[in-house]
Amino acid sequence: MIVILKKHANPAAVAALRAGFEAQGLKLHESEGEHTHIIGLVGDTKSVDIDAVRANPAVADVRRVSEPYKKANRKFHPADTVVDCGGVPIGGGKFAVMAGPCSVESESQIRSVAADVKAAGAALLRGGAFKPRTSPYSFQGLRSDGLELLKAARAATGLPIVTEIMNTEHLPLFEDVDVIQVGARNMQNFELLKELGRIDKPILLKRGLSATLEEFLMSAEYIMAGGNEKVILCERGIRTFETSMRNTLDISAVPMLKQMSHLPVVIDPSHAAGISWMVQPLAMAAIAAGADGLMIEVHNDPAHALSDGAQSLNPAQFAALMDQVKPAVEFFGKSL
Ligand code: PEP
Ligand code: MN
Repeated sequence: MIVILKKHANPAAVAALRAGFEAQGLKLHESEGEHTHIIGLVGDTKSVDIDAVRANPAVADVRRVSEPYKKANRKFHPADTVVDCGGVPIGGGKFAVMAGPCSVESESQIRSVAADVKAAGAALLRGGAFKPRTSPYSFQGLRSDGLELLKAARAATGLPIVTEIMNTEHLPLFEDVDVIQVGARNMQNFELLKELGRIDKPILLKRGLSATLEEFLMSAEYIMAGGNEKVILCERGIRTFETSMRNTLDISAVPMLKQMSHLPVVIDPSHAAGISWMVQPLAMAAIAAGADGLMIEVHNDPAHALSDGAQSLNPAQFAALMDQVKPAVEFFGKSL
């Protein structure tokens, strides 16, 4: 349920209203914008007497929110959320590119890719240390050593780092990571999501391979319900009947998610198709559709990458892409 307050509502009346809701065991989620002041009520609102609330002189309107996601719902929070990722804002007109290898492979690899993506205009460095591979025989990542190499690359370049967590037990290792990624395969690892809700760090949540947008937002809700509202949604391609590409990029998800939710939406065109030459057209489509950022895999030597080489750009290709991304972002009214 959302309660829309009058523009110049009496503060004492608003405080009394709040206290009344809290006494009913409801959790309050307030959003105060330039033109609106909304109190979102989370919990069992069945017993709330809508007519009585509507009659309160401080209240302009009351509406039931039928969607199961509340905190992630744009009705609760009409303005775009801007998530601060280690000093880099994403959302609300601020666009950011996260780039780097699928996997951190060595100190020289991550350092050189970090320097190259920074020079080309990336704002964050991505790199997998714990890798969710389909086969147990594939490279599983450098794990905690990979995290250390990422931190060293951050120290060298100043780029905040984004890296994937797979297990709640690893959380202490991620204390000094700027943005924690939850991969597509873990989108519904609810225990992990709950733990991430208890920390105060941006979470890049990737859409599951077969998740509906409502399921995706319910996973964001798990994190937000715990108190961590710094969630960035990432569409990375879904499973369809099409076999010519690794996945099918659901470009429609961008405008729909932005209508359903106030959270920033990032597109990962690398995993979406799994083919390096498709990264450029899909990135352009993402910008045109209203995405708030891109996550792109870049490798110093894609042909010899230990994971996802076929979809990785080399540094020169990434720099050429960024030359197109920058004017396109501005054309569509955002800033990098
Ligand atoms: C990745 O970002 O390297 C990754 C494994 O992504 P996804 O979870 O989208 O497959
Ligand atoms: Mn990858």
